[in-house]
Amino acid sequence: MDKIVYVECGSCGHFHLPSFGGDCRDDDNRFSADQLDAMHGEGKWDYVDLEEQMQDDQDHMVALFGEDEAPNYFKP
Ligand SMILES: [Zn+2]
Repeated sequence: MDKIVYVECGSCGHFHLPSFGGDCRDDDNRFSADQLDAMHGEGKWDYVDLEEQMQDDQDHMVALFGEDEAPNYFKP
């Protein structure tokens, strides 16, 4: 089973889904590591950290998220 991939947020320090483009104060759409462990199980989810996001490696992002999600998130 593929892991569910989140992105680390440089603004709020929580994790968001890559498709999330809203406000960081939206509590329903930001998650802590503990919350994600509780939701998916430990080791069953993954995330892209800030360093990886800086690299702006589109191929890498497409590999992680698929063609549709990656460009939407990383190219606003
Ligand atoms: Zn955020």
